[in-house]
Amino acid sequence: MKKVAIIGGGLSGLTAAFYLARQNKNIDWQVYEASARFGGHIKTVHKQGYIIEKGPDSFLARKPAGMQLIHDLKLDSELVKNATGQSYIYQNKIFHPIPEGSIMGIPTKLKPFLKSKLFSPLGKVRVLYELIKPADRSKEDQSLGDFFEKRFGKEMVTHLIEPLFSGIYAGNLYQMSLRATYPAMETLLNENGSILKGLRKQRVQTTGTKQTIGAFRTLKGGMTQLVDELVKQLPAERCHLNKAIENIEKKEDRYHLLFKNGEIEVVDEIIFGINHLRALELMPQYESPLKNQKIASSATLSFGFKIDDVPSLPDGTGFLMTREKDEHMTACTWVHTKWPHMVPENRILLRVFLGRSNLSNVTELADDELISLARTYLQDIMGVTAEPEVTEISKMNMAMPQYDIGHTERVASLLEKTKHQREGLHFIGMSYEGVGIPDCIQLAKETVKNM
Ligand SMILES: Cc1cc2nc3c(=O)[nH]c(=O)nc-3n(C[C@H](O)[C@H](O)[C@H](O)COP(=O)(O)OP(=O)(O)OC[C@H]3O[C@@H](n4cnc5c(N)ncnc54)[C@H](O)[C@@H]3O)c2cc1C
Repeated sequence: MKKVAIIGGGLSGLTAAFYLARQNKNIDWQVYEASARFGGHIKTVHKQGYIIEKGPDSFLARKPAGMQLIHDLKLDSELVKNATGQSYIYQNKIFHPIPEGSIMGIPTKLKPFLKSKLFSPLGKVRVLYELIKPADRSKEDQSLGDFFEKRFGKEMVTHLIEPLFSGIYAGNLYQMSLRATYPAMETLLNENGSILKGLRKQRVQTTGTKQTIGAFRTLKGGMTQLVDELVKQLPAERCHLNKAIENIEKKEDRYHLLFKNGEIEVVDEIIFGINHLRALELMPQYESPLKNQKIASSATLSFGFKIDDVPSLPDGTGFLMTREKDEHMTACTWVHTKWPHMVPENRILLRVFLGRSNLSNVTELADDELISLARTYLQDIMGVTAEPEVTEISKMNMAMPQYDIGHTERVASLLEKTKHQREGLHFIGMSYEGVGIPDCIQLAKETVKNM
């Protein structure tokens, strides 16, 4: 029987184990998790009636793998949809609603776009010029920043597109790969000669505007419920905590895993459910095409307040910051409106996102410095001066792999290498084919299906 080690008990590793177990293949698998808990980035904290997410707060329902896993785990009745979808861009001390009908910032409805005060008249003309601008069909990958700037002008990029993507990837738009992060835009352009024309033809769900009601899902008990259910449905004797792997050596056709506690396990194949740099630390001799891919760090701080302690906020779920002054803050979620079930009655929960790839690493700040930084933003932007009744800090060091230009080719060459060399090495997780929860589930599921 083939022996397989799954390294990492985050969502990817556990999903791989779950689908491997269902396949009834002749495989003896084990999950090894370094820390004392499963879930990796996914961590929900219950505090004084608040449900606080330290990592992801939800996943996109539109990508099928996430919803399918929920169904396979029989968790359908535990799902909760996000309540309201209006998001804002905070710019020059004003909350600008993201124009209704926007898809990742690109307008599909003329009226709300023309009415928006987020753009100058000239900026709007430049956006609409996209309708007739000749399509430049590039054979090469390019940065999201360059691609969108060529199509819609600089203002659209800095005022709307950049904040939206920074909120997801914590990275630099002018280094991020178009093909790895948003290939659909290039396809639209190639097929229609104009993105605006292409989007108008499509009836796609919109992002950041009121139509996004129900686009995201979480679980009644928070995202950790997903992890808990996976662990519950897996055989306990195959899932190991406090089992950090420190080194992997290939001897003949097998892999020798050296654990931190000195134990050694010999296996035939390995599924790496950890990011690409951690995987390379374990096998430094491995020639990975992704060895230069960076990983950004970020921090989130959640503050719970009595409702009377917070000045009234616009109707919506939160805001994104433009990069103009190079602030550490990228976004703030008004959790009490996005996920009312997570916040006690008459309470406000504000989640502040900090961290930009071009600035110093926020996770290196001490907790009190981080709290003070985040509370300064709350005061300056929302006028919140009251003492929070609940504070929760989450530092995510090396958490968000950066998909720089050429990423898809590098991933393809890694997959090609693993396939052809029949090395028995499999790579899953955020570093490869999407950083989101459904992407990671999809990759884990697909990987074990092909084993
Ligand atoms: C701040 C933040 C917010 C996010 N928000 C969203 C969101 O709202 N929606 C969404 O869809 N996605 C979101 N994501 C992405 C989402 O968190 C990931 O898609 C998902 O959690 C990745 O899981 P994973 O198992 O691949 O990796 P991880 O969660 O990193 O798990 C890897 C596991 O491997 C373990 N490990 C590491 N090294 C070793 C070793 N040597 N030996 C054994 N074990 C080891 C770690 O302890 C960890 O438990 C967010 C990510 C971050 C950082």
